[in-house]
Amino acid sequence: MPITVCPGCDEDIRIAGRPTIGQLVTCENCGSQFEVISVQPLELDWAFDELEDDEDWDVDEDEEEDDY
Ligand SMILES: [Zn+2]
Repeated sequence: MPITVCPGCDEDIRIAGRPTIGQLVTCENCGSQFEVISVQPLELDWAFDELEDDEDWDVDEDEEEDDY
């Protein structure tokens, strides 16, 4: 079982099965979610860029088109 280090809290993260690039894993220690960016060696990066604002999340709400 591949093991890598959590970028957030430096605890070991074990990935069940075979990791794939883009796979999301959650650190059981700090609860943060990470994305596999490299398989060999196994590396993780933040799944969500915490520097971004939250405003992009509800973009779909304004999609209604009334002017036809
Ligand atoms: Zn962690």
